[in-house]
Amino acid sequence: MDWWLRHRGDIDSAVDRDIERSCRSKDAYETEEAARAVAAMNGMANVLHTYHCVYCDNWHLTRQKR
Ligand SMILES: [Zn+2]
Repeated sequence: MDWWLRHRGDIDSAVDRDIERSCRSKDAYETEEAARAVAAMNGMANVLHTYHCVYCDNWHLTRQKR
């Protein structure tokens, strides 16, 4: 039981770091359309792309990989 709880803690903190990277540093939008609209408004439509976030169930903008 002790082992399981420790192991579980490791997984949880790994997920927390993942959320930190993908959510807290970025704006979240309720719809893909809203995220795209913001990118277009900033003249970044060709630089940024949208993705659905499994953690906060919103949409984020991220720089397109080249
Ligand atoms: Zn998110």
